[in-house]
Amino acid sequence: MNRRAIVAANWKMNGGLALVSTMVSELNKVTLNDNVAVVVCPSFPYLAAFSQASSALNLSTSIQLGAQNLNENAQGAFTGEVSTAMLQEVGVSYVIVGHSERRSIYNESSELVAEKVAAALNAGLTPILCIGESESERANEQTEQVLAAQLQPVIERVGIEKFTDVVIAYEPVWAIGTGKTASPEMAQETHQFIREYIAKIDESIAVKVPLLYGGSVNAKNCEQLFAQADIDGGLIGGASLKAEEFNVICSAA
Ligand code: PGA
Repeated sequence: MNRRAIVAANWKMNGGLALVSTMVSELNKVTLNDNVAVVVCPSFPYLAAFSQASSALNLSTSIQLGAQNLNENAQGAFTGEVSTAMLQEVGVSYVIVGHSERRSIYNESSELVAEKVAAALNAGLTPILCIGESESERANEQTEQVLAAQLQPVIERVGIEKFTDVVIAYEPVWAIGTGKTASPEMAQETHQFIREYIAKIDESIAVKVPLLYGGSVNAKNCEQLFAQADIDGGLIGGASLKAEEFNVICSAA
């Protein structure tokens, strides 16, 4: 199965206009393998600038723009929030949903995450749905149970058939920003569990869903991770802020 591969850059609350221009010109030099899309997710204020800078350079169409969050409502009195229509107006086509930082710092429940995935899909945005277990959950052998509990509300809310338009990012919380990457074998085992979980509901969907690994991916470990059968790319935090390193990761996918 030749699945789409995706490398997504999650800038988090980092970067600015200078990084936008460096990244756009550096990404213009990258050579991607067939079937690989690169998605860059800067903070809200820089989305329009990224979109303008990349169209000015006539950047290859495989570089896409993503947001880091969205509000599930269409519009209205939601101070500080951003809707799907706003994201689309500035050229966004992907959106990260349910990142562990949103779940833990902003108390986003799996049910809210499911509403956000539904809003993204209804608007025609591709959600990058993040799931992952904490260190103690892994130590207590609860990883599969936790991942299932994060996935199931989304499956129930949007229906499995919609997962042809969903990207899943498996990000073990203990590996995010810590320099502790899951070994390629451990990551593969967990990705396989996720794909089999979906396959039990619909096998034809399971083979198509891109599963990204995230958590301390860097230029050194990306190749081995991406070589795993069920790993279709990565969601990259820290290393996505360094243009040269990010290009190495993009080329490895
Ligand atoms: P990291 O972050 O690559 O810095 O570990 C990944 C993420 O949080 O998406």
